[in-house]
Amino acid sequence: KQMNIFIIKSFMILFLSSVTVRVNLCSPNTPSLNTLPLEGHFNFHEVQHAARDFGNRYQFLPMAILHPKTVSDIATLVKHIWDIGPRSELTAAARGHGHSLQGQSQAHRGVVINMESLKGPEIQVYAGNFPYADVSGGELWINILHESLKYGLAPKSWTDYLHLTVGGTLSNAGISGQAFRHGPRSAMSASWKLLQIVTCSEKQNDDLFHGVLGGLGQFGIITRARILLEAAPARVKWIRVLYSDFAAFTRDQEHLISGEHTFNYVEGFVIINRSGLLNSWRSSFNPKDPVQASQFKSDGRTLFCLEMAKYFNQDKIDIINQEVDKSLSELSYIPSTLFESEVTYTDFLDRVHISEMKLRSKDLWDVPHPWLNLLIPKSKIHTFARGVFGNIQTETSNGPILIYPVNRSKWDNRTSVVIPEEHIFYLVAFLTSAVPSSTGTDGLEHILIQNKRILEFCETANLGVKQYLPHYTKQEDWQAHFGPHWEKFVQRKSTYDPLAILAPGQRIFQKAI
Ligand code: FAD
Repeated sequence: KQMNIFIIKSFMILFLSSVTVRVNLCSPNTPSLNTLPLEGHFNFHEVQHAARDFGNRYQFLPMAILHPKTVSDIATLVKHIWDIGPRSELTAAARGHGHSLQGQSQAHRGVVINMESLKGPEIQVYAGNFPYADVSGGELWINILHESLKYGLAPKSWTDYLHLTVGGTLSNAGISGQAFRHGPRSAMSASWKLLQIVTCSEKQNDDLFHGVLGGLGQFGIITRARILLEAAPARVKWIRVLYSDFAAFTRDQEHLISGEHTFNYVEGFVIINRSGLLNSWRSSFNPKDPVQASQFKSDGRTLFCLEMAKYFNQDKIDIINQEVDKSLSELSYIPSTLFESEVTYTDFLDRVHISEMKLRSKDLWDVPHPWLNLLIPKSKIHTFARGVFGNIQTETSNGPILIYPVNRSKWDNRTSVVIPEEHIFYLVAFLTSAVPSSTGTDGLEHILIQNKRILEFCETANLGVKQYLPHYTKQEDWQAHFGPHWEKFVQRKSTYDPLAILAPGQRIFQKAI
């Protein structure tokens, strides 16, 4: 509590004159948000947008949306809610791009802060020996990429999709095929500002700095972040190969993530009961051996696709080709299934957006997304695969199932992110889309039952699985999720947000009224 009082005191010092007067005007039950002195504005009427997210399943109407123009606008709001205290149920949720799955960036009868309104100051890129970019917490990664590329630079670690915000991904972790080398995105960020008052880094307010990473928005609002950059490559060799043997597939994936000169990106996905798959690849991938590839049939089988990428600049093409050939020669994929493509770095990183545009054009983007993301210890991945692929999960036509390993050593255990204990663990992501009002296998109900069966299987087989982008509605489930880290999480909450004002949509803590 001490620490929080310190933070709130700082607000008071900064905003004393205006805020105290306004607070006196507020009735405790119906706080007069519209009298707060802001540079931005509240919207009290068109709030439905903030009650939706990518998951498209939960809709909690807020009382208002704040479109902040400055960091002070956010601080004014939070201070206002703090001053009302436990007499009101008012809460506040930062909303990045609303790409949560189960209402995590929503605030039932509270205030949703539209972080994308907080654009200024613009993205500032600092080139030099240790390049970085200073960006707003509501900035999209795609904009950071475009801006830093002007200096020949780019962030090191990514998510598969770049139309997500800095604050939203850092609050979770941010994982992709580069995480085995660089750790999650959160490991590639050096500092941030929370509500202008507190600047955190490894050295300054380090407990808050670490707590906020993977902290599910519970400890503060990230208004600005410093993102570490590196020299950006121009092009990418993008390669896919297939396996029918799961043991060979995982052995090769683990081999690749343990080597220094292999690939810059390693992911994979599961293919169950799909026909014509390779035909759909052919628009963007060339088979190394077209004749053999045309004879390969994926139909009906469970296959595992290893996806790799190697970054390069044209002047190093010969060395890169040798390195790629060497790495591929060490793998035991089905020889006729080597598919290659060469694309620009930007096109590679923004690849999911291309799928988004296609799905949008068919009205298939704004559908329910009952995604399930699991982190599974390496020692249990075979048990998981045997129990789930082709068994509980009998097809992959409703969306991809990603599967790839990452190294635990690249994750900082001082952060709030919950991961399995082993040195290597796998992300298995069931990225399913449901067809609205379908009662068949592509309908929401069926997919949710399947997710439940997968979770029950993990529980019964005692696999030590942790959910990524977790969702629970009962505190005892959250406690089980955090395990030995629960106490620390609770302690951070009572230090930095003791009234439980922030991110109520995560449903971890409830504001005491
Ligand atoms: P929101 O959904 O708006 O917010 C998420 C949470 O963070 C909420 O609790 C919110 O209150 C809080 N929050 C938001 N902004 C702030 C802030 N500035 N300060 C403090 N708290 C804040 N994730 C991966 O790790 N890897 C992937 O490859 C990946 N691919 C994805 C692909 C798609 C198509 C989609 C839809 C999501 C993907 N995600 C991935 C998940 C993504 O990381 C989450 O959806 C995440 O929530 C980011 O979305 P957002 O920026 O819209 O944040």
